[in-house]
Amino acid sequence: MNHSCREYVLQCLVCDRSYQPHEVSYYCPHCKTEGALDALYDYPTLKREWSRGRLAHDHARGMWRYDRLMPLSSTQFIPPLLVGNTPLYSRPELLGKGSRIKVFIKDESRQPTGSLKDRASALAVAHAMQSGARTIAVASTGNAASALAGMSASLGLRNVIYLPKTAPREKLAQMQGYGAEIVLVDGQYDEAFEQCLDACETHGWYNRTTGINSYMSEGKKTVAFELCEQLNWQVPDLVFVPVGNGCILGSVYKGFFDLLQLGWIERIPRLIGVQAEHSNFMYRAWRSGQPMQQVERIPPTSLASSINVALPRDRLKALRAVTASEGEFICVSDPSIVAAASRLAATTGVFPEAGAASAFAGLLKYAEENPGTAQTAVILITGSGLKDTSIFLSDSARTPSRAQSHSVPAALADEFT
Ligand SMILES: [Zn+2]
Repeated sequence: MNHSCREYVLQCLVCDRSYQPHEVSYYCPHCKTEGALDALYDYPTLKREWSRGRLAHDHARGMWRYDRLMPLSSTQFIPPLLVGNTPLYSRPELLGKGSRIKVFIKDESRQPTGSLKDRASALAVAHAMQSGARTIAVASTGNAASALAGMSASLGLRNVIYLPKTAPREKLAQMQGYGAEIVLVDGQYDEAFEQCLDACETHGWYNRTTGINSYMSEGKKTVAFELCEQLNWQVPDLVFVPVGNGCILGSVYKGFFDLLQLGWIERIPRLIGVQAEHSNFMYRAWRSGQPMQQVERIPPTSLASSINVALPRDRLKALRAVTASEGEFICVSDPSIVAAASRLAATTGVFPEAGAASAFAGLLKYAEENPGTAQTAVILITGSGLKDTSIFLSDSARTPSRAQSHSVPAALADEFT
């Protein structure tokens, strides 16, 4: 990063108040934790000084090539790990020759710790250290924590992680390997969220948790920038995004929004938020049109642990993403997620975790309900299947054709399921 400091203001999604960065921490002081903030940049100046052509000649590393649209004033603490620059695979016939939906796969399993959350955690550690923080904490279903632990390890930053005790052991192993301090919470993500919030307020730690920390969208949105650049600025018709906490969906929208302000793209694609049937707050809120305070919080029980959330903390940004892009929420069953994960792995070589595979399950459902429509669709594979291998070793993952040629020895399957 060698550009001048970014000018930006923070605007509340609830009350529209604007703040200078030094006036707020992570959320609107007036609306408290309900008040998610947008970082809004000096788009007219950026438009004059920057262009798609100049970007093409910028060889800064990974996500930092878009640093002019990131809320950092210092380059000093950018982690040394390469974050971003993940592949986009064109698989036009993924849905079969009869389908008129051409598919692209954005493979975020290739990030340093294996998930898209590295984009947020890279920004978080740089932002925390720039703010003078010595400890950074997060509540997570697993991926955000692994990402934070990895990024912190690369910079020697102390990190404390609040995690449901049911989190996949692969993710736990990753955090332990990185040397994180781990607090296993007796409950789901929602309990971990509250405990982390309390601890950060008590100890003055930097809180990386999405939904509290409005800056996290600004890291994750870089996936939308990359997508557009990889597609030569031809925006797809549809982007399928897994939804647990809602942060990735909101961030993808923000990325397209920024590019639209610069005039680099002509429209925002329809964003399709995909939820698991047993963790579907956003789907119910969107379908019913009820104020979100009135939508029932149901304990989540999906096997897709990374999107298992009773109350999505980035719900405002997630809902805006779908409504402003004229997209929709789709709900998929656990068996369809398992089937989609196996199909994606076996037919493309991209190995998704269950939460990530929900994006593909959502596309399959959409294609079934919208036959004959010619469209381009991107599925966002947000995390690696190596982070939770249980679904690939279960009986339900073995379709008849796979069982014949790729069956897992029964003893091995029993051992790991
Ligand atoms: Zn506000």
